Amino acid sequence: MSAPVRLPIITDDNRFYWEGTREEQLLLQRCDECEEIRHPPTPSCPTCRSVKWTPVAADGHGTVYSAVIPRHAPSDAFGSGYVVALIDLADGPRFVANVDALDPYDVKIGSPVELYFQTIENGYHLPQFRLVREASS
Ligand SMILES: [Zn+2]
Repeated sequence: MSAPVRLPIITDDNRFYWEGTREEQLLLQRCDECEEIRHPPTPSCPTCRSVKWTPVAADGHGTVYSAVIPRHAPSDAFGSGYVVALIDLADGPRFVANVDALDPYDVKIGSPVELYFQTIENGYHLPQFRLVREASS
């Protein structure tokens, strides 16, 4: 039996994000001034410094920018042979998440991935990604 995943630490800056996961939505911040979409949650826009923003749901698709297969999991909740990836979201921001693959070595730079949610405790869901299989021609 694996250990439970640690619950997120909720702050005023990331509450919208974690509440979105309860509805299985990956919410990003879009600046009301310059319209840049950003992640992780921050109180102000790194481009124009505006504190006005609107939450927008991510498209749910992206490509792997980089990936690692950790040799030592930080807890038993992660098991072994899992993939941690930097994912370039179709919406713009780069996102850190696990990529689910039968063989972790199938996860390559440039691999297309899609979002899904893993249920954890207290109604929260963790954003995860899986490989998108392209149709063979
Ligand atoms: Zn801005």
